Amino acid sequence: MIDFQETIEAIYYELKQSQNKGVVASYIPELSKQNKNSFGIHIQHIDGRTFQIGDWNVPFSIQSISKVLALSKAIAFEDNRIWDRMDVEPSGNPFNHLSLLELEAGIPRNPLINAGAIVVADILVTHLKHPKTDFLNYVRIITNDNSINYNVDVAASEKRTGFKNYAAANLLKSFGNLNNDIEVVLDFYFHQCALEMTCSQLSKAFFLFANKGKCINNVQHISSSHTKRINAIMLTCGFYDEAGEFAFEVGLPGKSGVGGGIVALLPNDFVISTWAPGLNPKGNSLLGMQALEYFTTKTGRSIF
Ligand code: GLU
Repeated sequence: MIDFQETIEAIYYELKQSQNKGVVASYIPELSKQNKNSFGIHIQHIDGRTFQIGDWNVPFSIQSISKVLALSKAIAFEDNRIWDRMDVEPSGNPFNHLSLLELEAGIPRNPLINAGAIVVADILVTHLKHPKTDFLNYVRIITNDNSINYNVDVAASEKRTGFKNYAAANLLKSFGNLNNDIEVVLDFYFHQCALEMTCSQLSKAFFLFANKGKCINNVQHISSSHTKRINAIMLTCGFYDEAGEFAFEVGLPGKSGVGGGIVALLPNDFVISTWAPGLNPKGNSLLGMQALEYFTTKTGRSIF
């Protein structure tokens, strides 16, 4: 039997010594205040056991990881109609790349790049009566934790510097793929990205993707068929233009964010979250990628 606690402790202490811890994101000024030495790992096993080490209980900006949670809520409203407005192909380009969107007539490559996530935000703004409050409540419910909140300073910081996201939203609007007002949709999107969660809360939030759509409280939020599809999208599109590398090295569906978080899961088995704010050149947490690669290699637990 694999000792998860012993395994993550060995990984943690080894990687803590790394000279190269990557570069903290600074294009959202508020994120540059993060400490490069922060590092946490948390595992939520499907049977209820948890394992943790380091800064697993420190809240951080989950950024693009929120795109998966928003997608799950949008799918619950729109079912497969959602795929009329976006595709499910990896982009092979950075998360905020725009030229493909223009070439492909305003249909984003997938829901996990910014343009796709902005369409998902548009869908939620259409369906939710109080979008920011209702989405926050959804995240609190699936995580079973009412202490989760938005960091309004991060949202404001991103709004001030979100020129590419404004460009994407304007392009989408020009192609008729955005129904609501650009300001309203982006305000929602910036808040969604500015959700703060700990590794432990992230593992719990993503429990439903490891559990056929049922959250940690055993309530069904999405069908098992949609869960399968969301996991497939995480595997193929969850790591910017490094999704192939993550599948190759780690072999789990997952999602990263520029705040340095990564969450990954093995269906019917466990969810693992890491946080280390230093990023590699592709925008993925450097230590997080390494930790997950060591973890699946040492334990032999991956989908392959
Ligand atoms: N809120 C960030 C943006 O739109 C998300 C980036 C990320 O985590 O990939 O630029």
